[in-house]
Amino acid sequence: MQTDVQRLTKAFFFAAQKHTDQRRKGARAEPYLNHPAEVAELLASHGCDIDTVEAGILHDTVEDTDTTPEELASVFRQSTADLVMEVTDNTALPRAERKRMQIETAPHKSDRARNIKMADRTSNLRSIINSPAPHWTTERKIAYFDESRQLVDNCRSANPALAETFDRTYAWGMSILKGPTAP
Ligand code: ZN
Repeated sequence: MQTDVQRLTKAFFFAAQKHTDQRRKGARAEPYLNHPAEVAELLASHGCDIDTVEAGILHDTVEDTDTTPEELASVFRQSTADLVMEVTDNTALPRAERKRMQIETAPHKSDRARNIKMADRTSNLRSIINSPAPHWTTERKIAYFDESRQLVDNCRSANPALAETFDRTYAWGMSILKGPTAP
């Protein structure tokens, strides 16, 4: 029987190995693992259970690395693999379609999946402000902020406190992107 500490450290080590060669898109090119680490911290600090935090650590392994759902199920649990797949985009679809699907399917997802989505978007908005990708225009950043807001609006009932943290991040980021408003 694994302890909670063993489960979480195993997930962190697995994600660290899988994301080894990846960097975040921002100008500082932070290690990719900074992102799942932030997502996990957001989930844990907003009262989420260990299954949610573990899947939060692993949430980008299938979408962004060579990890398969079968591998996750064999290394972790079937339920862990299922939860990661619930938050994994179908990369066979074109980008615009994928984003629309995320927003439309969110209300039908589990509370755990919706928590991971809210933490993921909160982390991404922070990154867009703190370490933006050099080629992203302000318009593109604002579009991502608004799309994230629509997604979180379909998730917020799963964890109002986490939704509030997203809202604060959104408001802070938008005030920077839009600059001082005229009186
Ligand atoms: Zn992510």
